[in-house]
Amino acid sequence: MRAIIFGAPGSGKGTYASRLQAKLGINVIVMGDMFRELMKQDTELGKKVKGYVEKGLLVPDDIVIETLKQRLSELPKDNGFIMDGFPRTIEQAKSLQALTSIDVILQLDVPDWIIIERLSSRRVCHNCGTIYNIRFLKPKVEGICDKCGGQLYQRPDDTPEVIAKRLQVYKEQTAPILQHFKEQDIPFVVSTATALETPPEIIVEKIMVELKNLKLI
Ligand code: ADP
Ligand code: ZN
Repeated sequence: MRAIIFGAPGSGKGTYASRLQAKLGINVIVMGDMFRELMKQDTELGKKVKGYVEKGLLVPDDIVIETLKQRLSELPKDNGFIMDGFPRTIEQAKSLQALTSIDVILQLDVPDWIIIERLSSRRVCHNCGTIYNIRFLKPKVEGICDKCGGQLYQRPDDTPEVIAKRLQVYKEQTAPILQHFKEQDIPFVVSTATALETPPEIIVEKIMVELKNLKLI
């Protein structure tokens, strides 16, 4: 299965993709994590990327596409993937489809008020990237990852100003991709959030049922 998990920042892409990864053994390609790795390095590229991410802006398409190509070349061919955080522009979508075909879009439809609540209380493990929420998805021990014992931290772009910018960028530059994919008759699995605290397992179960119906898993 070659899937894109698609939604606004804070819509739960990473949370659901990691659970689908555990259940299906499928590779998940997380664009944001790749950039966070690059930003840790004291290189020209790392500094350049940081300039965009810290402001809530999109990294330029040429850098994004190059980073993705490199990652795809490391993956075993024909094993499938779920992409999280890519594509985010029409240009990126077209580049992706020149490289590979897409079987399904997993669309997460989440109202802004839920996004803002979730992102402002999100925490991430420094070590393994697992996502928590200090209000709705707490670790067993405060500040510590359940899975690996790593320290949890708040992403510097999860501040109110940067969250607002990321949502604006999503609406202007990323959401139009949905129409682009619809015109190509790619199947959609849509998950609409109506409450803050729906457990991720319930949403993941629903997605799995629809993927089975589509005979993709
Ligand atoms: P979220 O989905 O919560 O906004 P991500 O971890 O996916 O966060 O991305 C963090 C930041 O990395 C984005 O705000 C953006 O600056 C950059 N980024 C990630 N993916 C892309 C992409 N496909 N194109 C451009 N910039 C990207
Ligand atoms: Zn961890």
